[in-house]
Amino acid sequence: MNSLLAGVVGWPVSHSLSPCMHNFWLHEHEMNGSYVALPVRRSDLSGVLAGLRDAGFSGVNLTLPHKEAAFAIAHRVDPAARATQAANLLLFRDRRFEAHNTDVEGLVLSLKEGLREKKAVGNRRAIVLGAGGAARAAVLACDHLNVQDICILNRTGSRADTLRLAVSGSVRAALNAAPWEAWEALAPETQLLINATSAGLNGTPSPDVRLELLSSDAAVCDLVYNPLETGLLAQARKRGLTTINGLGMLMHQGALAFELLFGARPTVSTALREHLEQALQDGT
Ligand code: NAP
Repeated sequence: MNSLLAGVVGWPVSHSLSPCMHNFWLHEHEMNGSYVALPVRRSDLSGVLAGLRDAGFSGVNLTLPHKEAAFAIAHRVDPAARATQAANLLLFRDRRFEAHNTDVEGLVLSLKEGLREKKAVGNRRAIVLGAGGAARAAVLACDHLNVQDICILNRTGSRADTLRLAVSGSVRAALNAAPWEAWEALAPETQLLINATSAGLNGTPSPDVRLELLSSDAAVCDLVYNPLETGLLAQARKRGLTTINGLGMLMHQGALAFELLFGARPTVSTALREHLEQALQDGT
């Protein structure tokens, strides 16, 4: 049986909604467990992980800046972690570290939910803004959704190219990296835009792209969930485009992680969404 102790490791980590979400599900499933936030510096990661394993934790989620390091120290890795070279979940199994990446499937489920009123995005183009870990997951999620043409745009162009090279072996789609200025030419033929940059977080300005260039059947997804409606999503809503905020990805990746950590598959319910929205409002 899985232990009922788990947590999220990051630096900083106090802003994380994961404890709120996992403890909601533990309560819902009448499990007498606990999921805690663990602030851990980069230099302390491996020692802390060994300590948590020895203390009987089932595993931990990883957030910035630990996803790549967690992947690197794992003894076993799942295909999504291998493709992204990053882990958002480490399970402690038989004293070994098992790396998973539920961000990819979490985003796939969120996009399917958000796009269900629309035609499939297959055979069409998606633009991913950003070149960090979230952008990696976004490229793979688009590929899982059978998008045929994925273009990565990043403020620092060389990082977009590095990301393209790193994931090109794992995707079937045509994958390109382009300079930020290519937006003007690419946008009119784009059906899905994903903001995987941290621009827009905590009310900072959203990425500088002109949404009026997108066609009226395009959808815009922002992985930032604080605030729930970023400047980018507000602009998209005013244009009448389909909008998908970052909470869906958070909840779906969390549900997959909860099942691996605690052995029960929780529901991504309206009650959970409202609980998390309230926590965001309260600044928890
Ligand atoms: P990261 O590795 O630090 O990458 C940040 C990216 O944002 C880089 O590509 C960076 O570009 C770009 N960027 C930062 N400020 C910018 C600006 N003002 N204009 C344009 N680009 C800018 O971060 P990450 O882990 O990929 O996370 C990115 C975002 O996704 C964060 O807000 C995170 O909260 C969110 N996220 C959400 C979920 C979810 O479940 N909803 C899951 C994971 C991540 P440069 O390369 O030029 O610096």
